[in-house]
Amino acid sequence: MMQITRCLLCAAGALASCMSLGGAQARPDAAKMMDDGIVIEDVTLISSERPAPLPHATVVIRGGRIAEIGTGLVAGRHAQRIDGRDRFLIPGLIDTHVHVGDIAPLDDDAVTAHPELLEAYRAQLPRAFLAFGFTTLVDLNLAPDTLSWFNRAPIHPTLYHCGQAVRVIGGYTAQRIPKDTAAANRMNIVYQSSQAKDWPAALDPRDYTPARAVDRVVEAGGICLKTFVETGFGGVFHWPVPTAETLDALRAETRRRGLVFVIHANAVESWQAALGARADVIAHGLWHWPGDRMSATPPAEVREVIESAARAGIWVQPTLQVIYGEQSVFDASLLDDPRLAESLPHSVIAYLKGSEGQAARRAMAHEYRQALSKTLGPSVDPTTAMSIGPTRVTATLRLMLADNVKLLFGTDTPAGEGIGNPPGLNGRMEIGHWADAGVPLARILRAATLDNAIAFGLAKDLGTIEVGKRADLLLLRADPLKTITAYDAIDTVVVNGTPIARAPLLPAN
Ligand SMILES: [Zn+2]
Repeated sequence: MMQITRCLLCAAGALASCMSLGGAQARPDAAKMMDDGIVIEDVTLISSERPAPLPHATVVIRGGRIAEIGTGLVAGRHAQRIDGRDRFLIPGLIDTHVHVGDIAPLDDDAVTAHPELLEAYRAQLPRAFLAFGFTTLVDLNLAPDTLSWFNRAPIHPTLYHCGQAVRVIGGYTAQRIPKDTAAANRMNIVYQSSQAKDWPAALDPRDYTPARAVDRVVEAGGICLKTFVETGFGGVFHWPVPTAETLDALRAETRRRGLVFVIHANAVESWQAALGARADVIAHGLWHWPGDRMSATPPAEVREVIESAARAGIWVQPTLQVIYGEQSVFDASLLDDPRLAESLPHSVIAYLKGSEGQAARRAMAHEYRQALSKTLGPSVDPTTAMSIGPTRVTATLRLMLADNVKLLFGTDTPAGEGIGNPPGLNGRMEIGHWADAGVPLARILRAATLDNAIAFGLAKDLGTIEVGKRADLLLLRADPLKTITAYDAIDTVVVNGTPIARAPLLPAN
């Protein structure tokens, strides 16, 4: 239909106007069609599938979708017009590694003593992601009740998820052995014969096959499946992990059910396991290295497994801010960062700065020191040992960049306890670390939009500014291909076709 219209125009001698459409998509009768919906006028359109930005573009939104794109289109009287002059329009950002149900920076004691803090935190959380430009999230390990409170928020990013991650008995996040089927199902435990002696007598192994684990994720509405190959944070703990046989079975079942297979891995052996299992996504960077714990130079094994990841074409989420954020256990200066007040409610920041919050942080710092001393021995200062982390994740990201590993943008917000991974802001900090490591700005944008959409099977609806896609957009006051600070200059966030100015998304003062 559109093709015909375009041809007719050309045949009628309006060749010049056809040519002036340039890379834009053809349009039917503009004046008539543009008299409704939302019209973003005269904007520079930046979207990763385009070889170059499209200046002076007009984007029309109807019914929550992008209806038309062109240059020289004119808005009618009844359209809602948004002035895009000196503005840059990009797709809404996608973070494919979050845990929206985790309540860091509030620990259990804080929530028990001050339930209103949790309420305030959760009320702000969806808005915080939007305020920093994240219109789509993928929760890689979602508790069943999370979707209901998250989606009840008046405005929120679209939340996809992997249901409950698959765990092995006694492994990471499953240290407590489930007593009954309800607990085991909730933990999405998988049976493996190598652990037969640890298997609870109350559970029938036939109910905990890889196929049943994948069933549980499908029943929960997951688009992906995650499992952990985490042996214990580089020797701090010693946990069992899924065997190669279990991973292969999960791989086969996820493929059969059309799910994306995600493996949590951050050490050389776990990356090797993920590659061996032909996972689609490795959900972390590579910071646990063999050899000297204090070395900041990647050893040969690290370089080799990164080369293998590049050859295999596996997607990798480098998750640098996980490691940077850990530093906040020892260094509370983030509490004074003015950007934190754009992420967390003021009541939560006041609590964290107060005596209870500071006592909790000191207790956590003590736990960290003890665990590290136990692992590294008394001669190593735990604070110094932790400070190696950021250097390591940056060095490995540089190797991934040099080897052309397929990078995906994910933050793991919030990765751990403490204040180091505040919602929304965490993504902005992750963007900054990528830029500091030398990732080109175009590649950062692509990783957080088109590539995330492709990797998680969402590209039909998301990831670019194209006709038919969901109208999740960011209007920026600076060019994100020229400066990283464009991500600090969000003017308007369009969520599901609804434009929202940034200021009202921030915590109330
Ligand atoms: Zn995670």
